[in-house]
Amino acid sequence: MSALFPLPEKHLLPRMLRVKECLRDGLGRDITYLRLSVTARCNLVSAYSPAPDSLKSLSSPMTRQEVLRLAQVFTSLGARKVRLTGGEPLLRRDLEPLIAGLSPEVEGRVHLSTNGLLLARRARGLRDAGLAGINLRLDAADRESFRRLSGRDGLSRALAGLDAARAVGLETKLNAVVLRGANEDQILPLARLAQREGVQIRFIEYMPHTGSTLHQGATAQPHLANGWRGGRFMAAAEIFQTLLQGLGQTLEPEPSLGPEEGPARLFRIPGSAALVGIIATLSTPVCDRCHRVRLSSRGLLKACIFANEPVDLLGPLRHHATHEELVRLVRQALTQKVECPALPLGQSGLPWGPWQVGG
Ligand code: SAM
Repeated sequence: MSALFPLPEKHLLPRMLRVKECLRDGLGRDITYLRLSVTARCNLVSAYSPAPDSLKSLSSPMTRQEVLRLAQVFTSLGARKVRLTGGEPLLRRDLEPLIAGLSPEVEGRVHLSTNGLLLARRARGLRDAGLAGINLRLDAADRESFRRLSGRDGLSRALAGLDAARAVGLETKLNAVVLRGANEDQILPLARLAQREGVQIRFIEYMPHTGSTLHQGATAQPHLANGWRGGRFMAAAEIFQTLLQGLGQTLEPEPSLGPEEGPARLFRIPGSAALVGIIATLSTPVCDRCHRVRLSSRGLLKACIFANEPVDLLGPLRHHATHEELVRLVRQALTQKVECPALPLGQSGLPWGPWQVGG
């Protein structure tokens, strides 16, 4: 057990002592990308994420020091990119120093997923801290639909966040989760907005979500906290058809992305700088391109988004586990990573147990 804990941030493992290893999962894939949730709190509601209330009873989230210590376990094992997510990461006041601590660990490849509401005033400071880019969640392109879907009249603030991010030179992409009966009418307006702005947009298939149940140590639950109903699911193929018909043009496939670039299939709208992407997490297996792991704001490692059993890293850290002991726990968890099937189109049940998207 380490007598060195807790360390001041600048005295995290000295860089020259860090032996870069590689982290390989049970299917032989190198894990190079860490999605790191820094808070379970959110300032928007959504039809596909757990209600903020359902997260209240959770144990205390990680301190900045703890986030950095655990992130360092992954970067020492070869993680080359970190995405900060949540909840809404901008609800953390110490996000800038957190990014400043992380950025040198991954040579500046720190990205942020945000709804953008609190971004406008912080974009410059985030960039100065070492942030490379943002993915801004935007599920609607008009004010009323945004309010209906998110519970807040926040479209202009989100768009101001987008503008600010671009103005300070952050790489910027838009993400929209598509739910049938909720925002499929927004697919084209969002694509046009992206086209107008010259920014990439990716449409994401809606995934079931267990809310806080995994945080509380529960395993498979028959009820899913985001009220998953198969009827709400809109497959990538249908999203693509909607785009094709609505844009009245062909969409030119971009060359296939390497695993570093994530699971989106990208298309170019002829005559536009904007790319449109589709992330088919359920209808098409993306396992072959998976190179990521997730760490929740409570320090739970999810080796796979489809896996039921998270591995607690924060408990051991708080009980003074050494870096090497944490490395061992991570390696163990990763060897258990298994391949998952695609969701047969039209199926309303799920072939797996529930899982955690955010938090
Ligand atoms: N608050 C931030 C935001 O809104 O982007 C970060 C958290 S959110 C979990 C990160 C990304 O996951 C967003 O792009 C969001 O749209 C996506 N996401 C959340 N729940 C989802 C679900 N059930 N299915 C598909 N994508 C989901």
